[in-house]
Amino acid sequence: MNLNDLERIGAVLHGHFLLTSGRHSDIYFEKFRLLEQPQLLTQCVQAMLAQLTGIVGQVEAVVGPTLGGVLVAYEAARQLGARALYAEREGDRRAFRRSSTLTPHTPVLLVDDVLTTGVSIREVLELLQQHRAQVVAIGVLIDRSETTPDFGAPLACAMRLPAHTYAPEACPLCQQGLPLTKRGSR
Ligand SMILES: [Zn+2]
Repeated sequence: MNLNDLERIGAVLHGHFLLTSGRHSDIYFEKFRLLEQPQLLTQCVQAMLAQLTGIVGQVEAVVGPTLGGVLVAYEAARQLGARALYAEREGDRRAFRRSSTLTPHTPVLLVDDVLTTGVSIREVLELLQQHRAQVVAIGVLIDRSETTPDFGAPLACAMRLPAHTYAPEACPLCQQGLPLTKRGSR
């Protein structure tokens, strides 16, 4: 999978976008276009896991946050022959619901669809600490972070696509007079 694939399915849009953060960007990433394509998603998960060869062999459970991370966790667990667990939202934190259990010291691969600020991953890390799980690695499909955060575990991605955002007053697209499109996921 490459950038052309993401453009072809409409996951990567080019233009002049107002993000929910209030900042402007020349690229908008619509992750649901990727999540809608099981075959591409399967390839992305394969590429992500290929970077963790030698680490993921010991993984017994793959954990991902709702919504997109659930699909990634399911597919990664399927490829690894491991169990999948889903970290759902509960107030401002994450929880395993529906009586899901995780035995202490279980080797876990934490996954998500897109890494931007790393907030979701940190929420799941907190949950895994509560369960005394052993986080052996973190995997994301697309790493959009401008500076990759340090989570204290090896991090792999299928593709790195750093976001370049601008404060409105310093936006080169505004200076060119390009019309602004409002997009955002939160
Ligand atoms: Zn602008």
